[in-house]
Amino acid sequence: MLVLKFGGTSVGSADNIEKVIAILREKLKEEKLLVVVSAMGGTTDALLECGKLAALGNEAYKEKLREIEQRHISTVKELIPVQQQSAQLSMVKKMCNEIEDLCNGIFLLNELSVRTIDKLLSYGELLSSQMIVAALAGKGTEAKWVDSREVIKTNSEFGNAAVDYAITNKNIQSLINTNDKLFIIPGFVASDPRNITTTLGRGGSDYTAAIFAAAANANSLEIWTDVSGMMTADPRWVANAKIISSISYQEAMELSHFGAKVIYPPTIQPVLTKNIPVWIKNTFAKDEHGTVIKNDAESDGNIIRGISSINNIALLSLEGSGMVGVPGFSKRLFEALSGASINVILITQGSSEHSICVGVDAVNADKAKRVIDQAFTGEIAMRRVEPLIVEKDLSIVALVGDHMKSHPGISGKMFGGLGKNGINVRAIAQGSSERNISAVVNTADVRKAINVLHEEFFETSYKQINIFVAGAGNVGSKLIRQLHQQQSFLRDHLRLQIRVVGIANSKKAIIKNEGIDLSNWEKILGDGSSSNIEQFTDEIIEKNLRNSVFVDVTASDKVAEVYERLLQKTISVVACNKIACSSSYARYKKLKELSNEFNASFLFETNVGAGLPVIGTLTDLLRSGDNVQSIEAVLSGTLNFVFNHYDGKRLFADVVKQAQDEGYTEPDPRLDLSGKDVMRKIMILARETGEKIEMDDIENKSFMPESCMQGSVENFYSEMRKHEDHFKKLYDAAAKEGHKLKFVARYDGGKASVGLQHISSEQDLYHLYGKDNVVLFYTDRYKEQPLVVKGAGAGAEVTASGVFADIMRAARVN
Ligand code: ADP
Ligand code: ASP
Ligand code: MG
Repeated sequence: MLVLKFGGTSVGSADNIEKVIAILREKLKEEKLLVVVSAMGGTTDALLECGKLAALGNEAYKEKLREIEQRHISTVKELIPVQQQSAQLSMVKKMCNEIEDLCNGIFLLNELSVRTIDKLLSYGELLSSQMIVAALAGKGTEAKWVDSREVIKTNSEFGNAAVDYAITNKNIQSLINTNDKLFIIPGFVASDPRNITTTLGRGGSDYTAAIFAAAANANSLEIWTDVSGMMTADPRWVANAKIISSISYQEAMELSHFGAKVIYPPTIQPVLTKNIPVWIKNTFAKDEHGTVIKNDAESDGNIIRGISSINNIALLSLEGSGMVGVPGFSKRLFEALSGASINVILITQGSSEHSICVGVDAVNADKAKRVIDQAFTGEIAMRRVEPLIVEKDLSIVALVGDHMKSHPGISGKMFGGLGKNGINVRAIAQGSSERNISAVVNTADVRKAINVLHEEFFETSYKQINIFVAGAGNVGSKLIRQLHQQQSFLRDHLRLQIRVVGIANSKKAIIKNEGIDLSNWEKILGDGSSSNIEQFTDEIIEKNLRNSVFVDVTASDKVAEVYERLLQKTISVVACNKIACSSSYARYKKLKELSNEFNASFLFETNVGAGLPVIGTLTDLLRSGDNVQSIEAVLSGTLNFVFNHYDGKRLFADVVKQAQDEGYTEPDPRLDLSGKDVMRKIMILARETGEKIEMDDIENKSFMPESCMQGSVENFYSEMRKHEDHFKKLYDAAAKEGHKLKFVARYDGGKASVGLQHISSEQDLYHLYGKDNVVLFYTDRYKEQPLVVKGAGAGAEVTASGVFADIMRAARVN
């Protein structure tokens, strides 16, 4: 004997029912079958909606009813041969008339009781099951229709009735002791001792099937649905959810209790007692293995079996000094809740006994507050207990697995993962069986939480990094190209799945949850909507994706202003933009502190020496306990390029223009020529060593005539032309001695300075070509010979690669 249950989608259309019939005819060759069916998918909700509309006096219920009727009629027409259709069509019409009568009554009375709801909803399963019997008959397969209301007997708790197993089991046994081989049974419905229709709770057809399986001592129970088994997480939320091939009854029960909708929680109990294996199978992929729920479920190597979640949770906290050491408080709390028929989903109590916290369905929150405050009126008046605190918009996320108990560190990993992604945990519960750890989080974070945990526990294959790029100019476009080129390498070698989810320039922005196609990003951005950086930031925060990294490849102060908001949401910031780190010390410090506090990286390697590992090297020295004595550096790729190319023959202004045209200068080249950009860089290095230093503290012996720095960029070039003599003199003075001109930055003894210097051939800085930068670190460990970092210090390609390296650092830390 085999019991099968087909869910709403499986019987949701004529085509699907054909698939069900094919499965049944195949199985019937082997065994006697008890087949439980749901209503056609969506019918139960639609019937409930009709009832509610009618109760509100809204005639729209009539139209909805017509839709329900139409759907069933057209299914009959498609499914059943014309000669046999009329009997079925009148069955559907008759039932739909009854539903209409019921709704008209509800409409007239403006009243919808739980008892009436059960009657109304029962039609869904009654209709589908009779249609299937007829469809089978149309194919020459005899099936016996069973009125489950006459077989499953319950108490009168409408909406969620409790089964009277003694009578029910007897009824089932006498039912199957006949020669019939195939029984079609409407799920979900039952009746009370007075034969009034009851239901077993939403999703209850699974339960009907389990009741039949247990009573009939079936070989196994098969739940046929629209997914290929129970999965490691809800597949609608986690794209990489995997099928669990085998799971224990207890694990399945925990997962379903905490929200895995694929099986209705009460289903497990009857089959567990009889040790009947339960298979979850896919009607639309019938040959796939599916999931088997049984006693001795094999381990698949994962400590965690699955992750599930429940939304719409309210947390009730009862607190007060009067509770400490006084027995009976919890008893009274739970009695108050059960007296009001409020189901408790989660319980936690601190060992101080100063507070008890319970999670309930949010629809019950106000009622709970009323009954609990009432139960503790005396204590509240005497201030021994505070009035109940109710928090809403919460969800529970639960990790489930039989093997957790023998593995320390699971909760560490769980809460570490949530913390690193800025997800605040409001309450925690762990069953003493250690089969489940649950955390209460804000509903806004639940999707992210499940994905973070899924990645931590199941996706050894890769970690997803979600990148948002602000600035799609010179460096930005190179960066995006590099990211695109490296995507498959990073996936294969570092197990990182890099996705650029958002790109913005000064006019437009585009965000795509599934990641932007980087081979076509320019067009996609061009088609994007007009936006500004605040809106872009709002959207990033609202998306709330795990492992998010914001990349600023602009030179805009507006963009630098959003870092604080992002870091506070645990979104890492990688800045090529120097504005934030080179503005006031207070602001630099604040960003560093936020990065620490909220566990998000704040990285800006390219602020100094473009792609060269300058800040990284300095950080490594300091972290390993070295002490910086002084720093000497040539930090301007532009100035080095200019002084390496200027020989008094070409105009100085033309050499500067060449540097700008080749993309080495800041967007405004005066920042380079004035020495300001070098000041910013040496200041950032000094700050990284711990120095509290501002721009005003840095000495700058500028070599530029003042008039060049006034007015526009055109003026800057024309004034340089006028002052060609001045530049030639500077050059000649150095050349006469065999020296080179270098714009040098120095940090020594807490002081920083920048300026043009003559460098002789014996000095380290002499051999510095093109647009190179060099940084010499003199430290306790590198006393005589400095640690030298040297190489190209400007250019979009190398800058982009430095930004890329920071992204990798942020990704691996998070
Ligand atoms: P049926 O109508 O067949 O009873 P349900 O809609 O009740 O189907 O349950 C199946 C659905 O449960 C799947 O389509 C899936 O979206 C959802 N689901 C939620 N959590 C899980 C999970 N952990 N594993 C599989 N499916 C899940
Ligand atoms: N039709 C019912 C519901 O939607 C029962 C079920 O499908 O399991 O809740
Ligand atoms: Mg279901």
